[in-house]
Amino acid sequence: MHNQPRLLLHTCCATCGSWIPDELSMKYQVDLFYFNPNIHPEAEYYRRLGEIKKVSDILNLKVIEFPFDPQPWFQAVKGFEHEPEGGARCPICFEHRLRATADYAKAHGYDAFATTLTSGRQKKAEIINPIGEKLSQEYGIEFLCRDFKKHGGSDHSMFCSDDYGVVRQNYCGCVFSKKASLGQTLQNNSQSLPHVQ
Ligand code: SF4
Repeated sequence: MHNQPRLLLHTCCATCGSWIPDELSMKYQVDLFYFNPNIHPEAEYYRRLGEIKKVSDILNLKVIEFPFDPQPWFQAVKGFEHEPEGGARCPICFEHRLRATADYAKAHGYDAFATTLTSGRQKKAEIINPIGEKLSQEYGIEFLCRDFKKHGGSDHSMFCSDDYGVVRQNYCGCVFSKKASLGQTLQNNSQSLPHVQ
């Protein structure tokens, strides 16, 4: 329907992006915005984009994408490299991505912007939504303030991504979260090894 308001939906991965745009399409004309320069390495950046395209093809949604260019993101989080996931680096990462979304939405005549980020179990809506609202004020464009993990949203993401045949990832996205996830896996494996004297 072309008389629906236009929504630019920042989408971090196909797991989050599977049911949310479908639901929002009842009220909005949704375009997906893949701006995630935090994702490391390059192959993983394009793998996640490929999974999003798989879902967008099924839902008949447009994906706005960008070439892999992580340097501005590394600049933004400089000094916070040793923070754990959920620490002080993450709000900077959220704002970096949402600022690009708000900026693009405003420049291209969208009525509102939103993000799928709040569907992640580790992602706190009380941190993400105030960032969106701040940018909404700054850019003069509505931010759709939602917590997509509520009402079973996180589980729904898992079910829907399975339905769409989406391959999920085992770390948040950045090189620091990848290293932490790898370290955790190695630690778990060493704990399960038999003790040799
Ligand atoms: S852990 Fe996730 S949210 Fe935090 S900085 Fe890394 S990619 Fe961004």
